[in-house]
Amino acid sequence: MRNLIILIIHKKTLLIIFLLLVALVLTCTCNEQEVFTSTLGEIFGPLCFVNKKIFIDPGHGGEDPGCSDTRQKIFEEDINLRVGQLIHEILVKSGAEITMSRESDRDYVLPKEQRGNQTKKRSDLNFRLQMAEDLQADVFVSLHVNATQRGSYSGAEAFYNPADPYSLLLARSIQEHLRSIPNMTKRTAKPGDYYILKKTTMPSVIVEMGYLSNSRERELLVKADYQKAVALAISRGLADYFTDRAKDSEMPAALQVLATEKPKVAIVIDDVGTSYNKGVEEIFALQQYPLTLAIMPNMENTTEHSLRADRSGFEVLIHMPMEPENGNTSWLGPGAIKNRMSKEEINNNLNIAFGQIPNAVGMNNHMGSLITKNKEKMRLVMDFLHDKEMLFLDSRTNSASVCREAAQEAGVKYAKRDIFLDSRYDYASITKQIYKLAELARQNGYAIGIGHVGPQGLNTAKALADTLPILEEQGIELVFVSELLNDF
Ligand SMILES: [Zn+2]
Repeated sequence: MRNLIILIIHKKTLLIIFLLLVALVLTCTCNEQEVFTSTLGEIFGPLCFVNKKIFIDPGHGGEDPGCSDTRQKIFEEDINLRVGQLIHEILVKSGAEITMSRESDRDYVLPKEQRGNQTKKRSDLNFRLQMAEDLQADVFVSLHVNATQRGSYSGAEAFYNPADPYSLLLARSIQEHLRSIPNMTKRTAKPGDYYILKKTTMPSVIVEMGYLSNSRERELLVKADYQKAVALAISRGLADYFTDRAKDSEMPAALQVLATEKPKVAIVIDDVGTSYNKGVEEIFALQQYPLTLAIMPNMENTTEHSLRADRSGFEVLIHMPMEPENGNTSWLGPGAIKNRMSKEEINNNLNIAFGQIPNAVGMNNHMGSLITKNKEKMRLVMDFLHDKEMLFLDSRTNSASVCREAAQEAGVKYAKRDIFLDSRYDYASITKQIYKLAELARQNGYAIGIGHVGPQGLNTAKALADTLPILEEQGIELVFVSELLNDF
C-alpha cells in the first residue's frame, strides 16, 4: 500500500515535471518569436520600405575569399554572405524589394577574352554595379570585413561617397545603429575612396562589419548572435535613412546641415593601469562614448585595464613614462624612458610596455618634458612605433617638443594635445575646460583633450558624464584620437 502511494506520487511528480518542461520550452520559443516580431514592427514603422529597392552586395566570393584567418578557416566572403542573408530575411517582410549580388560562394569575373584589359577584381565589381543599375536600386549596400597587419583596431565602420550627401546620410544612419551594439568600438562614418562608392549612381555605402585581425572581434564575427545584431543594425539604419528621405521634400535644409562636417572632439584619459588612481570605474562606466584610454605599463592593473578597455570598446594607448626636466620623478613610474639610457635600454622598455598592452593603437607620453625635446631619443621611440604601425599623441608637456618632426621623419602618424581638462581638480574648472575644448573644435574642425584618473579622477569622470551628452546635442562628434591624425 505504502509503495503504491509512493508510486502514485512519483508518477504525479513526473507528470508535473514534464508539464513544467513543456511550458518552459513553449515560453522560450514564444519569447524569442515575440522579441523578433516586436523588433520587426519597430523597424518597419511608417511604411518606410514600401516600393524601395535595396541592393545588398556581400563582398568577395568565388575566387576571392577576402580577408581570412586560414588557420581557423574563417573567410570574409562567408561572413559577408551570412549577414547579407540575415538582412534579406529581416527586410523581405517589410515590403521592400531586396536583391543580393550573390546568394552563394561565387564571383562575377568575366573570362579573359571578355574582360579585355580589366583586372579580375574590376570585372567582378563592374558586374555587381551593373546588376544594381539594371535593378534601378534605391541604395547599394556593400558588406565587408576589415583586417590590418596588427590586431589592435576593432569596430564596425560605414564608408560613404563624400560627393553624395545621401550616401553620407545612409552611412551615418547605419553607423549610429552599429555603435549601439553592446561593447562595439564606437567608430564614426567615414568618407571612402572606393571604386564601388564612386561608380554607383544611387546612394551607396560600404559597411566594414569589424576587424578579422582583432582576436576579440574575430570570435564575435563568426557568431550567429553577433551576425544577427549587425544585420539588425544595418536594417535599422536603412529604415532611418528612408524615413529621413521621406521627410526630405518638407525640409531639404536638413540634408544640408547633415552634409556639413561636424566638429570632432577626442578625449584621452591618462594614467589608467594603476590600482590607486581614483575615477577608473567611473571612466569605464562611460562606455557609450568613444574615449581613448592611455594605460601605464608596469603597473598593478596594466594588463587587466588594457584587456577591459578593449572588451568595452574603448581605444587604447600606451601611456609611456618619460623623464621630465624637473618635477617629481617618483611620479614617473617603473620602466620609464630616461635621458641617460642607451638605444638598447630604450627599445627594451618600449618592448616591455608593448608586450603588456598589445592592443594599443599608439602611444602618448606620461610627463616627458626632457625626453620630448630630445630629437635623438624621440627618433628611437618613433622608429619603434613605425615598426609596430602605431601612432603618437604628443601630450605637449614641453612647448619645445620635437615629437612632430621626429614622427614625420619616421613616418609615424602624429597628433598633439590641445587642452588638459583637469589641471585644476575641481568640477567647475574641469567642466569649463571641456566646453573650451568644444569651442576649439568648432574653430578648428577638431580638438584633442586629455583628462586623468587620479586625485581629480572622480571630478573628471563626473564632468564628462554631465557634459558629453550636451556636446553631442550641440552637434559635436566624439571620436577616438586615432581618427584625428596627421598623415605625413
Ligand atoms: Zn600621465
